[in-house]
Amino acid sequence: MPPSTRRTDAIVVGAGIAGVMTALELQREGVSVTLIDRWGPGNSRAASTDYNRVFRAISGGDEFYTRWVQEARFRWLELQETVGQTLYYECGALILATDGHCHWEDSTTETFDKVGIPYHRYSAQEVNQRFPQFKTDDIKYGLYEPQAGMVMAHRSVISVTELFKSRGGILKRGHVKTDRDERLMLDGKHLEADLIVVSTGAWMGDMYPRTVKPISSIVGINVLYTSTPDGDDSFDQENMPCWIDHGQSSFGLPSVEGSGVKAAVVIPEHIDLDNDERLIKRQSLARTRSYIKKRFPKLVGERVVDSKFNAVTITPDTHFIVDWHPEHKNVLLAGGCSGHLFKHGPVFGAFAAGVGLRNYGTADRFKLGNRKKLTPKESPSGR
Ligand SMILES: Cc1cc2nc3c(=O)[nH]c(=O)nc-3n(C[C@H](O)[C@H](O)[C@H](O)COP(=O)(O)OP(=O)(O)OC[C@H]3O[C@@H](n4cnc5c(N)ncnc54)[C@H](O)[C@@H]3O)c2cc1C
Repeated sequence: MPPSTRRTDAIVVGAGIAGVMTALELQREGVSVTLIDRWGPGNSRAASTDYNRVFRAISGGDEFYTRWVQEARFRWLELQETVGQTLYYECGALILATDGHCHWEDSTTETFDKVGIPYHRYSAQEVNQRFPQFKTDDIKYGLYEPQAGMVMAHRSVISVTELFKSRGGILKRGHVKTDRDERLMLDGKHLEADLIVVSTGAWMGDMYPRTVKPISSIVGINVLYTSTPDGDDSFDQENMPCWIDHGQSSFGLPSVEGSGVKAAVVIPEHIDLDNDERLIKRQSLARTRSYIKKRFPKLVGERVVDSKFNAVTITPDTHFIVDWHPEHKNVLLAGGCSGHLFKHGPVFGAFAAGVGLRNYGTADRFKLGNRKKLTPKESPSGR
């Protein structure tokens, strides 16, 4: 028989960063792709929303993700050329290492030396001289990564979707469900395609109660934007890096395009994905204000100008999920957020597309099945 000339057809369910990037990469491989989302790309319930996400290679002793971010940087730069919009601001990232919270930071420098990521190690005093926005009296040292910064989250999802559509991709609105056997259904019919990639983020656990739920817990994170001081641009991304402050369970991003300074004190909250309104919890205001008072004295008294409440999915080892459903051999599950997927988006999408087309198998760390919690030293996120 002559070889078939029929194009592979694929459905990608979920148009967050994992889904849109996988769809784009499948399309690049010549696959005919339909992308389906319940509320549409960039919707405010998804994790891939909000203005921005931190982009940093800093992953403790984890060489794998460090290399992925190294590659992702080039892919983000290339993508923003292609779409003609700013998706990435290279404002740098600063890790504040505090006494008792230095394992992750210490192992990061070893990994950076091995992989070849540029960085500077500053004393507390040097951090303060270089970045006077930060009060550093409790800091042991700072690790500054210049080839880091922020990715514009919502804009990236929207512009990648537009690119996908302009290249012939089909975007549909729909709520894909699973039956008792975890088979995919849309509008009462089984979903059929050569390949189906499910990238429904935090909703994946409920769709796959046997396969995914046991390895995913969902938490809500409150994020607040504080106004920059009147007439002062020192808290803008041109003058200030993103930062990670594990000792204070916090991270944040400088003001970009007038957003205000974004700070999150990570105290996980319960979230009901379908029913909770995305309003920040009252108590998070006080916690964030007290953090700001401690770390950014010049922002004391400034008003909160915006806020977000969104869900992250955490796997036990904080590794992503890219694996075939054990019973449905054309269904690839792709996600596992763990609070760090956005930055990896273009590399994650290319990897998932390659697995989906069976160009190679998945990585051991992304397999479903038993996962164990890592120590803060082993963990890519230091958690
Ligand atoms: C507050 C916060 C801060 C973060 N900070 C960072 C950071 O600094 N750096 C970083 O790299 N990452 C960060 N992350 C993590 C990152 O944002 C996520 O890992 C990433 O966005 C997950 O993308 P996703 O595509 O897997 O899921 P999502 O973005 O949630 O997308 C899932 C999509 O699936 C759709 N969907 C769900 N169910 C169905 C269904 N049944 N049928 C059809 N469609 C469906 C949804 O509408 C949604 O659009 C952060 C996350 C949060 C919440």
